[in-house]
Amino acid sequence: MPLLSLRIAPDPCLSTPSRPVDEVDQDIRKLLDDMLETMYENNGCGLAANQVGILKRLVVIDISDNPASPKPIKLVNPEILWVSEEETSISEGCLSVPDQYAEVSRPAEAHIRYLDENGCSQEIKGDGLLAACIQHEIDHLNGTLFIDHLSALKRSLILRKMQKQLKYRAL
Ligand SMILES: [Zn+2]
Repeated sequence: MPLLSLRIAPDPCLSTPSRPVDEVDQDIRKLLDDMLETMYENNGCGLAANQVGILKRLVVIDISDNPASPKPIKLVNPEILWVSEEETSISEGCLSVPDQYAEVSRPAEAHIRYLDENGCSQEIKGDGLLAACIQHEIDHLNGTLFIDHLSALKRSLILRKMQKQLKYRAL
């Protein structure tokens, strides 16, 4: 399976809302598998299709911390049905914002509906890291990055650090 190339902020794909998938076919299943492999290769716990330049509502997640027993979740057209009023704050990072981490406050629990890789409707209710990860990835599908949840000052500090890194890498 080929690895897909990651889009790094401020790539315009990351700020563009993605379109729903009409049919879960063989091409979509292959794309989900390639996304999972790309996520594992880069040590991520979630990846949305627009992070590899594809504007479709597809997400892969695996929050298990044991590489020997992966627990991949593949989400097609995920939608949030309910979130808790209670919020919690977790330090988040993102494969499209490399090496930058910040505390983001989000609802502590989330309940979502999605299509699985066979096109069957499923629901997940999660809390903790899973809830944060699901909301982070659905944000991607809507063109939002975790740094968009931060204050303008913190966000611009991170973007400035990233620009320096890009320059450094180009040397
Ligand atoms: Zn991300």
